[in-house]
This record gives sequence, structure tokens and C-alpha cells, in this order.
Amino acid sequence: MFANWLTQTLSRRRLVGMGLGAAGGTAWIALHDAPRLAMAHAPADWPARGEDPVAELRQKVALSCRILAMVGIVGEINGHVSARVPGSEEMLLRCRGGDEYGLAYTTPAAIRRLRFDGRSEELAGQYEVPIEFPIHGETLRAHPEVGAVVHAHPPAILLCGLAGIPLRPVFGAYDPAAIGLALDAIPVYPRSVLISSPALAAEVVAVMAQREVCILRGHGVVVTGRTVEEATLRAIRLESLARVCWELARHGPLPTLPAEELASFAALLDPQRLARTDEYVWRYYVQRLEAEGLGLAPSADGAARR
Ligand SMILES: [Zn+2]
Repeated sequence: MFANWLTQTLSRRRLVGMGLGAAGGTAWIALHDAPRLAMAHAPADWPARGEDPVAELRQKVALSCRILAMVGIVGEINGHVSARVPGSEEMLLRCRGGDEYGLAYTTPAAIRRLRFDGRSEELAGQYEVPIEFPIHGETLRAHPEVGAVVHAHPPAILLCGLAGIPLRPVFGAYDPAAIGLALDAIPVYPRSVLISSPALAAEVVAVMAQREVCILRGHGVVVTGRTVEEATLRAIRLESLARVCWELARHGPLPTLPAEELASFAALLDPQRLARTDEYVWRYYVQRLEAEGLGLAPSADGAARR
């Protein structure tokens, strides 16, 4: 088993970069440190770093939604991203409202501040909380080290889940960060229902346990991270791995790579090193949003682009 060699070489938490043992304040520090390069390219009228942390987080969650839509992890109006408001029992969650044009066109205004139980004074009759908000509230409540949650319905993860094809580390240097998510078996929540209540979300949280990803069979996926960037890129990498596993499964059993080859990526998967990698990859996606006309840069009249 993959877990065997892993246990002998490094702790899994260290290898997959989750930092689950970190203190509750880690997410807050990372939220400010990781995106500094991206913010260096932010439009001039965006809040300066540290000026309004909540406004920065709203923008980042909106960017995450746009990126996930751009790469096909979410489609149309389904899926949402949240970020913990540091030091509180509140989150910033992608909601729907009168300015709803789908995830690809998410504006910071659609990222509303809610308590973990979904109550909010910020909805103002204009926004509605997604039915599956308990995924976010209960995950953030259960895991103080988690700073962001992605819930999405990615097509390849859906297919693999329904077909019972496990997401395994079938490749190596092609994308070490992706296989880092699958060195241990990825938990699968077996029911395809909407996670519409705290009780159902608690079931998902229990299945997910200490892992950073959980497949919802016949439904989608839940992905966590210390930061919005980390959760976003993990979702993208997991879908990339699922695409490969899905295609490979058409040609026979999934290959098993030698344990020593997989172990060779341990240094790359060190959480701090991976955070630097994430910083660069996040910049790439933000730049690509701009290139594809999906960026958040305000237009000449000051309105966010749609
Ligand atoms: Zn869903």
C-alpha cells in the first residue's frame, strides 16, 4: 500500500502539505503572505495589502470562483468557495443575488459575510445563501486550521467516483503536487444528496476526517486549504489527476509506480515549498483570467468587469 512507505518516510500531513497540526492563526498569516506577488499586480484601486483584510479576502474568493470556472472545475452557477474570517466564527461565502451571471463572472459583492450557521446581516434581501452552505460552515467549524473551502462538481472526479475508479498516484514528475493529494486513499462520501443541512455536512466532515479532499459520490468534491489559493489549486490538481485516471482506466488497470519514485517527491511536497509553488501558479491563473477577459480589474467606470 502507498500508505506503508509513506508512513516510513514522512508523516502524511507533512507530505501533502496540509499543515493540519498548525495553530489556528496559521491561515491568517498565510492569507497575507502567500499572495504578495499576485497583489503586486492588482489594480491600483484595489485595497492595499493589510488595508482591509476582509476586502482582500472577498476579492480572492471571487478570483477563485472565476479561476475554477475558467478551468472547468465549476460550471454555470454551481459550486462555491469560502474563506474563514480570521479570528471569528464567520466566513466569506460565494452567494447568489440579482447580479448572478455564474461563477465565471463572480464579483466581490457576491462574496458575503456569514456566520457558520448561515445567518447574516449582509444579505440585505439581495443575496441568498447557497443550499449547501453547511459544507463550508461545518468544515470550518470542525477544522480551525482550515482557512478556505471549495465545493465543486468537477466532471472527471464525478465520473471516477461513479465508476469506482480510485484516484491514485498514477504519475510522478508530470505533476507531483497532484499525486501528493492521492498518496493515501481519498475518502468518498457515498451519498449523492445535496448537503443541505448541518447534519449532512457533519457526515461529510466525519468521512473527510483529517484529509484535505473528499469525493462526494454522484455529486462533486470538497477541498480545503490553509488559504484560498491552496484550496483552489488542490481542486484543480485533483480534477487533473481524475482526468488521467479516467482515461487510463479505459485501457486497463491503473499502473502502480515504484514507492521509491513517489518518495522522491517528498521535498517538493514540503508545505512551505508547495506554498511558494502555489504562489506562482496562482499568479499564472490570475494573469490568465485577465488574458481571457475574466479578470476582476475594474473597468473605466469603476465597475467590476462581467
Ligand atoms: Zn454540490
